[in-house]
Amino acid sequence: MRHIDLRSEIIKTALQLNSTGLSAGSSGNVSTRVEGGFLITPSGVKYHKLHPEDIVFVNMDGEADGNFLPSSEWRFHLDIYTSRRTAKAIVHAHPPYATALACLNKNIPSFHYMVAVAGGKDIRCCKYEPFGTPELSKAVLESLVGRKACLMSHHGLIAFGDNLEKAMSLAVEVEVLAHQYQLVLQMGEPDLLSELEMEDVIHRFWTYGDNAQKIEDEKRRKPRKSWQSNVTYPKRGSFYKNPDEKDSL
Ligand SMILES: [Zn+2]
Repeated sequence: MRHIDLRSEIIKTALQLNSTGLSAGSSGNVSTRVEGGFLITPSGVKYHKLHPEDIVFVNMDGEADGNFLPSSEWRFHLDIYTSRRTAKAIVHAHPPYATALACLNKNIPSFHYMVAVAGGKDIRCCKYEPFGTPELSKAVLESLVGRKACLMSHHGLIAFGDNLEKAMSLAVEVEVLAHQYQLVLQMGEPDLLSELEMEDVIHRFWTYGDNAQKIEDEKRRKPRKSWQSNVTYPKRGSFYKNPDEKDSL
C-alpha cells in the first residue's frame, strides 16, 4: 500500500474533526495531495473505524481507487488542487459557529486582525450550491481567490494549507473567529479594521514564523556584486511575488 504515513495522518486529522468539535459523526472530509492525485476520506465511514487502506486515492481526472467510494464531496477537493498549486491538504467541516454564519450568508469581516490568517481582509462565504456538484466547486473557488479558507452557505467551511496540520489549524482558527464574531454581533456593530491595517497585518504574517525563515533564505540568495569580478548576479524572483503563493500563510 502506497503512502501509509499520509493515510494514517489523514485518519489522525479526521479524528481531530471530532475531538475539536469541528464535525460530529462522519460529516466533513480530509484530503492531502499526492503524486498524480490526492488521498481522501471515504464516504460514510465513521472516523474511529477508519484504517489506512480505507483511505481512497482519486486521480486528477476524478477517478477513484479504493475499498470505498471517496467522500461525496471529493469534487471540490479535486478542483482546489487543480487550480491552487499551493494547496497540499484540505479540511472541510460543518462546525457550529462557522456554519451558523454561513446560514446567514455572512462573510467574516475584519473585526479582528486574525481574520488575515486566511490570506486577506475578510473570510468570504460562497453562495449555496448542492454538495458534490461542479457548481459548488465553482462557488468555492471564487470565494477562495486570494484566500486559504472560506465559509460555504448553508453548509460549513473549507480550509487548505501546506500540509494536514496547517489546514486543520486554519479550520480551527476560522471556527474560533466565527464564534468571536457572533459574540461581537450580540453586543453591537463591530468596529472593523481598515484595509490598510489589514494589509499591515498580512505583511507582518509574512515576516513571521516559517515565513521569516523563508525570507532569510531568500535574502541569502539576493543579487550581489562581486568585488573580484565586478559581475552583478542576475536577480532571482522573490518567492512571495506570485499571488497564489503570497496567500500561503
Ligand atoms: Zn460538507
